[in-house]
Amino acid sequence: MTAAIIDGKAHAAALVDRVRVAVPAFAAARGRMPGLAVVLVGDDPASHVYVRNKLARTATAGMRSIEHRLPSSVAEADLLALVAALNADDAVDGILVQLPLPPHIDSAKVLVAVDPGKDVDGFHPVNAGRLATGLPGLVPCTPSGCLILVKAVAGDLGGADALVVGRSNIVGKPMAALLTAASATVTLAHSRTRDLADHVRRADVVVAAVGVPEVIRGDWLKPEAVVIDVGMNRVANPDGTTRLVGDVAFAEALPVARAITPVPGGVGPMTIACLLRNTLLAAHARAGLPAPVTL
Ligand code: NDP
Repeated sequence: MTAAIIDGKAHAAALVDRVRVAVPAFAAARGRMPGLAVVLVGDDPASHVYVRNKLARTATAGMRSIEHRLPSSVAEADLLALVAALNADDAVDGILVQLPLPPHIDSAKVLVAVDPGKDVDGFHPVNAGRLATGLPGLVPCTPSGCLILVKAVAGDLGGADALVVGRSNIVGKPMAALLTAASATVTLAHSRTRDLADHVRRADVVVAAVGVPEVIRGDWLKPEAVVIDVGMNRVANPDGTTRLVGDVAFAEALPVARAITPVPGGVGPMTIACLLRNTLLAAHARAGLPAPVTL
């Protein structure tokens, strides 16, 4: 048996399509399109690529995007003033401040300054607390996308043993909260975990968000496990070119797992699709409208 390869691009395209179809009803009710403001500080090439992709997908979904580019020398106070202006702008439903920010800016201070109702990244402590306590709120995009992929393959997660490797605030911790809410029995592993292989061996679902190339080996996996690989690691080829690999040794996992996400083309596209969904959900919540049932 070879694992099914989970087509993140196809799942993401389907979600973006559901967002696109739901936009006109909002526009008709409010007399405007949902709006996403993206703030990009500095010249980090990867951030520029991410922002370009996010803006292009926003347009595909029929939503309005507003881009603010600031030099890396921008003062923290000026960035906070921009966030305050976006908070006050009724035509802006979602605010995304692309990370990383330059070292002289306190990222936590900026993220806390975003109106939690417009926090489409789901990074504000209010939204993190809502997720942890089971209240409705905006959920971080990458783990949201992972959950959609897991459920598409595994269905009901009640009683499943799920392992999340990595405990960052943007992926690992919210992923563990989402899987817990879905009634999986969740283990959250990190760099101090003893015998990671042993935890992997017991997991029906493995979500890897580590940032270490192929740290999870194929022969650690439980047969028929569902594997979601969040990792995006650039490694060198012998000829000097580079390629992206995940946190899971993909070729080794193929004969063991039931299903696995590829890198690239797995989790990455879902992250952007969930950002668009969050923007539309934020727009509805701010307007006092019920969320579209199709989302
Ligand atoms: P962080 O660096 O913030 O967190 C990494 C986590 O992995 C930490 O909790 C760390 O433990 C843990 N860890 C590190 N080494 C090991 C190890 N050997 N064994 C077990 N755990 C370990 O990373 P992010 O969560 O931000 O991102 C993780 C990966 O996902 C990266 O490759 C990133 O590029 C990718 N990513 C992909 C996205 C997408 O859309 N596809 C979106 C976001 C991230 P400790 O806490 O103890 O230090």
